[in-house]
Amino acid sequence: MASKATVTADKNAARSSGKRTGRANKLKLVSLVVPVFNEQQAIEPFLTRIEDVFAPLAKTYAYEIIFVNDGSRDATEFAIRSRMLEDPRLCLVNLSRNFGKEAALCAGIDHARGDACIPIDVDLQDPPELIPDMLAHWEKGAKVVNARRICRSDDSWLKRATAKGFYRVFNRLSEHAIPQNVGDFRLLDRQVVDVVRELGERVRFNKALFSWVGFETAEVTFKRPKREHGTSGWSYWRLWNFALDGIFSSTTAPLRIWTYTGGFLAMLSFLYATTILLRTLIVGVDVPGYASTIILILLFGGLNLFAIGILGEYIGRIYSEVRERPLYVLRSVHNGQDKAK
Ligand code: UDP
Ligand code: MG
Repeated sequence: MASKATVTADKNAARSSGKRTGRANKLKLVSLVVPVFNEQQAIEPFLTRIEDVFAPLAKTYAYEIIFVNDGSRDATEFAIRSRMLEDPRLCLVNLSRNFGKEAALCAGIDHARGDACIPIDVDLQDPPELIPDMLAHWEKGAKVVNARRICRSDDSWLKRATAKGFYRVFNRLSEHAIPQNVGDFRLLDRQVVDVVRELGERVRFNKALFSWVGFETAEVTFKRPKREHGTSGWSYWRLWNFALDGIFSSTTAPLRIWTYTGGFLAMLSFLYATTILLRTLIVGVDVPGYASTIILILLFGGLNLFAIGILGEYIGRIYSEVRERPLYVLRSVHNGQDKAK
């Protein structure tokens, strides 16, 4: 394909001259960041679709694909490396084990060199055909272009209900709302990428970080298709923990709730104590009182434990942050261009 060869040559020239982009020839570089975990069958169809999408854009944009192999135990690495032999636009970042999608995404963003960066799933649930629209919004000045799912009819009833519940709770508690049904698939301008990379937190909830950054934001919408190959790596338990990470790392509202709950209950206790005191003074000592005593003990015991649990959630996260462990560990990085030379 002649145009592909030209783009590659242009990009090589830009890179070897030490520039991040192909500005000399007016080609903007788009980095696709693709975390992969046991996705051997998905690599080929994904690359074909990406090539189809970028073919008509070859005069304006060059692209690179950064695969982050998140500790896959199947032939994912082999599938990518065999394609890298013929395609210098591919880059492979191998992590030393499975670190989870959020960390893998960070590793990919750290290696992206594009003027724009698009995190995208390899299973084609984020349709690459939206990319030209996203680029059009970007050209008009948007620094972030979200891709929002308008219809989740392919998701199970439980997944839709829990997702809706999560967005409702999150947006009520957090100071910075996150847009409903927007996943990691979005376009981020280089300026935004640089800010996101500066954020040092270890407990990562990228969705919230991407919105926290601000800047002009545009939106494209799509219907999320079913997974083409393999199975989802997210169990409900993992999603639940992810949701907790999201809430506790984005807001301290759950701590504040206890100040008000505590204050309210203290007031009630005071009123109750006054009533009992007055009754004892007026009517005399009232021996039976087992029910009220046991109810109060159980109620306050339960509430105390729950509040301590909430404190624990924050302390646990503070502990992860102060340890300052790296978000991910690299095993190796392979650049398609090195191979092609
Ligand atoms: N993924 C990953 N590490 C993980 C789990 C998933 O890198 O521990 C990748 C996976 O290969 C895919 C993307 O993250 O490219 C989305 O994963 P999945 O399709 O399982 O999530 P879902 O679409 O169900 O939200
Ligand atoms: Mg998926």
